[in-house]
Amino acid sequence: MKKIQLAKTGEMIPILGQGTWGIKNYRGKEYYENWKASLRKGIELGMTHIDTAEMYGSGTSEKIVGEILKEYPREDLFITTKLFPMHLRYKSMKKAAYKSIERLGIDQIDMYLIHWPSPIVSIKKQMKVLEYLVKEEKVRFIGVSNFSVEKFKKAQSYLNDVKLVNNQLNASIVRQKHVHESLPYYQTEGLTMTAYSPLGHQGLKNIKGELKEKLESVAKKYDATIQQIAIAWLINHENVITIPKAYKIEHVEANAKAADIKLTQDEIKLFYDLKKTK
Ligand code: NAP
Repeated sequence: MKKIQLAKTGEMIPILGQGTWGIKNYRGKEYYENWKASLRKGIELGMTHIDTAEMYGSGTSEKIVGEILKEYPREDLFITTKLFPMHLRYKSMKKAAYKSIERLGIDQIDMYLIHWPSPIVSIKKQMKVLEYLVKEEKVRFIGVSNFSVEKFKKAQSYLNDVKLVNNQLNASIVRQKHVHESLPYYQTEGLTMTAYSPLGHQGLKNIKGELKEKLESVAKKYDATIQQIAIAWLINHENVITIPKAYKIEHVEANAKAADIKLTQDEIKLFYDLKKTK
């Protein structure tokens, strides 16, 4: 699995990781065992960056990821988790971070993100918490998610000694806004953009028209599926990593193979005129 440098940190991170949004609560043992088997398969195939969040299944996702973490040397996995942005106070934000650490069963989170800009909590306060957590060595790297470039810059301006390294954004072949409007900034600054929902959240089940035709034609050339081409399209952009979510093992296997597909510049641009600005 190809790795790229996470911003300018020296840390190498796989271009393909694994998402875990959608782990449900109150399911039987078999459901969780199947999910863990898929995560293990992904790890075996080099998708060692696992993305979770305090809010996924109200902590269930972090707990499952924590169970997986116990099975591997800690340094083999890179864990991203996210602060639910509705904790109002400095103290409650810190407490939330410690709870994530506890559920994950680790000493330190690799990358900690503010899940989305809060309408009620100041970015400044959130940045102070992130800075504190880095200084306390509870977190290695920090970033944000769902922040506009303007908000990202504002957040960075509140940090004294630490830098934001990542913005996790909704970006895919069916939702290209951030590829065209945000990514150029992160590329210029040498920062990393994580594309979330790389398969449009639905696994590209309902696509039609020109996009479907173009995907099918490129997929044919590479003997690939349209989902593999959609993933390859994202990670063929500089400074982009992505985190598809797959419960089915065959999907995990297919996704890992997408990392090997090298599209031409013309093939990348072929999809640009299908951009949607939402
Ligand atoms: P996604 O990865 O775009 O799509 C997931 C869907 O695609 C699932 O139904 C999955 O099916 C299917 N799939 C996966 N690989 C496939 C393949 N090779 N062929 C066909 N179908 C395939 O959706 P997502 O979960 O929204 O996004 C990925 C991750 O990004 C999340 O899990 C989460 O970690 C993160 N995320 C972050 C935010 C944020 O606000 N920061 C928001 C949304 C998501 P099966 O599961 O049945 O295998």
